[in-house]
Amino acid sequence: MDNIELKRFWEKVKEELIGSLPESVHPWVYSLEVSGYDNGVLTLVTGQAMAKDWLKKNHSSQMNEVLKNISGNENSRLNIIYDENVAKQIKKETEKIHKKEIEAQQKEQAFENLSYMQSSANLNLKYKFENFVVGENNKFAHDVALSVAKNPAGKYNPLFIYGNSGLGKTHLMQAIGHYTIFNNPKLKVKYTKTDDYINDFISNSRRTNNSVENMSKFNKKYTNVDIILIDDIQFIESKEKSMERMQHTFDTLYNKGKQIVITSDRIPEKIPRLTEALTSRFKQGLMVELTPPDFETRLAIVKKLAIDNDIKAERDALEYISKYFDKNVRELEGAFTKVCAYAEINNKPISLDLARKILKCKENEKKITFDNIISTTAQYFDILIDDIKGSSRNQKVASARQVAIYLCREITNQSFEMIGEFFNKKHTTVMYSHEQVKNKINSQKDLSIAVREIKQALKVL
Ligand code: ADP
Ligand code: MG
Repeated sequence: MDNIELKRFWEKVKEELIGSLPESVHPWVYSLEVSGYDNGVLTLVTGQAMAKDWLKKNHSSQMNEVLKNISGNENSRLNIIYDENVAKQIKKETEKIHKKEIEAQQKEQAFENLSYMQSSANLNLKYKFENFVVGENNKFAHDVALSVAKNPAGKYNPLFIYGNSGLGKTHLMQAIGHYTIFNNPKLKVKYTKTDDYINDFISNSRRTNNSVENMSKFNKKYTNVDIILIDDIQFIESKEKSMERMQHTFDTLYNKGKQIVITSDRIPEKIPRLTEALTSRFKQGLMVELTPPDFETRLAIVKKLAIDNDIKAERDALEYISKYFDKNVRELEGAFTKVCAYAEINNKPISLDLARKILKCKENEKKITFDNIISTTAQYFDILIDDIKGSSRNQKVASARQVAIYLCREITNQSFEMIGEFFNKKHTTVMYSHEQVKNKINSQKDLSIAVREIKQALKVL
């Protein structure tokens, strides 16, 4: 029997003893601590000499019966000894085990509380640090946010995160909230949208006529926390009463040494009629900007989305999406989701063709001109630009010309008339050239390579 089994065994015996012995001796039974069970002998230690004498003298056979019944061993018996020190030691150990059990129960409770806290703190489960892809554009903001999460109300208070819509402000801010709930569950976190704060304030003022007593309820709600996350502060613009209240909330929290995190789509000076008082408060900590992610980061974001959602997507489809949705991560995610939804419904793989078809990105927005196409084509075939635009029937020149015409139509989507004008040819001739290349491209390898390489050089692939 190991130590824990022994204690359990004794607990069982003790319970039976309490049930069968007169109440007057219960305190002595409770004074017994188990110390061993060898060869049927259950050794019990007491720090009370009287307990040993009395129980031995008056109840030993009754007690032995109980032990025999529970152990199933006819020869088992109790041996009670008196030793103040041993008794104390054993008691200490028992308490230690008991304490551990209580701690385990508390931990379990804490995990149950976590999900409750998460919903009451108003956080979206997706917005955690683990799900935030770090790139050049957001590394500083990310590192600062993490530092605030690890050390609230430390170096950066308030933390003011600003940047255009869809760049991860809310995500980063809520990540601080999640980090705290998971790693520092004793701290109270509150996330609030500025709109909700304002509406709450207005309805509270109306209901209570601004009575001191009821405003204090409102104040408590926003100041009885360790970390407040105030999202989209720009919506407070021109709302004087709300600004006054916000200043009060800010000061109360700040003076109590609580962390304040604010986001905005612009710097404080650009928020219309933001009071001087709030402007200076928002700027007194650290201000960090989120800028649009570069191509590599955008690609990493959609790749992560694909992996996390167990979606198989071809690399060039992801590259295509990342290339054209370069200003806003929300839109980047939206584009990816749209392609995935279409692929799923139609049971198709997520390919470059599909992404193109669904998203129809303005690939020509790069404003590639006829001149760009002709000079790149001439360079590729190693001939003169003038030859391409001329009327030489030399085979090399003629086929380079056809490729250039084909590409002008494909890349710019301009009319055959316009292309004809540029090449000094009838539009029917231009149409014919386009048709020729189109028909031969799949069967003639050098032609398809030429078209692909010129497109690559023009950066339209
Ligand atoms: P904002 O608050 O700046 O308008 P959000 O935080 O709402 O932007 O972000 C928009 C969407 O883009 C969210 O779904 C968010 O998870 C995602 N997102 C933004 N930046 C990143 C990033 N660096 N890594 C992963 N997802 C991101
Ligand atoms: Mg936001």
